[in-house]
Amino acid sequence: MSDFLMAELIKKKRSGHQHTTAEISFIISGFTSGNVPDYQMAAWLMAVYFNGMTPHETAELTRIMLHSGRTLDFSHLPGVAVDKHSTGGVGDKTSMILAPIAAAAGARVPMIAGRGLGHTGGTLDKLEAIPGFRVDLSLDTFIKQIETLGVSIIGQTEEICPADKKIYALRDVTATVESYPLICASIMSKKIAEGIGALVLDVKFGSGAFMRTIEEADTLATKLMEIGTAHGKRVSTVLTSMEQPLGRFIGNGLEIGECVSILRNEEFLGRPPEDFADTRELSLALAGQMVWLSGVAKTEEEGLAKAKQALESGAAWTKFKEICLAQGGRLDEMTFDAQTVEVMAPESGFISALNTEQIGYAALTLGAGRLKTTDPIDYAAGIEIHKKLGERVEKGERLYTLFHSAPSAPTDLASVRLLSATKISLQKPSVPDLIARKRVN
Ligand code: URA
Repeated sequence: MSDFLMAELIKKKRSGHQHTTAEISFIISGFTSGNVPDYQMAAWLMAVYFNGMTPHETAELTRIMLHSGRTLDFSHLPGVAVDKHSTGGVGDKTSMILAPIAAAAGARVPMIAGRGLGHTGGTLDKLEAIPGFRVDLSLDTFIKQIETLGVSIIGQTEEICPADKKIYALRDVTATVESYPLICASIMSKKIAEGIGALVLDVKFGSGAFMRTIEEADTLATKLMEIGTAHGKRVSTVLTSMEQPLGRFIGNGLEIGECVSILRNEEFLGRPPEDFADTRELSLALAGQMVWLSGVAKTEEEGLAKAKQALESGAAWTKFKEICLAQGGRLDEMTFDAQTVEVMAPESGFISALNTEQIGYAALTLGAGRLKTTDPIDYAAGIEIHKKLGERVEKGERLYTLFHSAPSAPTDLASVRLLSATKISLQKPSVPDLIARKRVN
């Protein structure tokens, strides 16, 4: 144990100074082991939020977090193990679609995913909406599943990236998410620890993303790519719009329903799969990159073609069922019974702007996410979006349906949030492209 004092280190970062590697190591190992309490770590995270970190500090933070647990290695398997990570969005459910697509196409996908963060949803929470689905497999079981099925999705355990697991949960509730070094270290530490050789990064920008502008997203993409390159990983960054939620449903169980609809090409809650064209398009684009970087396809175009084939042939749906079976998920027991409340348009016009962060918070208040780390989740809670950007709405027509199963769910509060998040104009707006830019190292 070194003789650093945490209060002095907080003051150092608060004053805008650089940490040494030994100091970062003291902070991260102290917090992970419980010697540094939450209140000091929260203060330090806020100091980092305001004063940032140099590229060297960020690289060291990533390395120290990466080695806070075990690191995996899949080099004994054919091809390049590949994963995708998103910087976080609302209704962003692509992992459940692209992981089985990429694995069905022949890629190895060891996926260590996260929980909801701030106003955004998390893959683990979504998967846990499937009764019995276990995201806490031991690493040995995880490795076995990659060897047999080609894919497994779990959360950080005490064994792998325990530092990120704890820091992530604290950032979620202390408004310290939107920080380049903290995001870079969080994403890259857990992804490199998984034993991947290639990573596809969905870097989001817009009103529902942590990076509001495409320029900020591009800066984050560059920083993430630099860390990946320094660790010898192929990295593809795809900049995608989060100016509106992805797809039509937000909320854990509802999002699984949307994914299954795309994978099976069947309707969900009265909506045909065509209603989820944006979710499908993005999932395929990201899966195509994964298939390409895994070495299963020689070109980007071939990667996309193989991903489409895996989806359209039903192979990805079969793979998804295999994942559920292997991880204890009982898909056939999923029900979508919930109480609903409709939110109507106060005027006629076109949907010209959506404050997607506020829509995410509305879902959270209904019970789809956590306001405090210890909050339970209502897996039935969420929102159906009837009108998306650029669509016409008439006064009194449905804008949103709220879903919840807790009698005390604050539906009035959520409705007010949703209405203030929705701008209706007489002019038809131009809708931003979903996929704005792609780069690979
Ligand atoms: N996703 C992560 O895993 N970490 C972050 O900090 C942000 C998004």
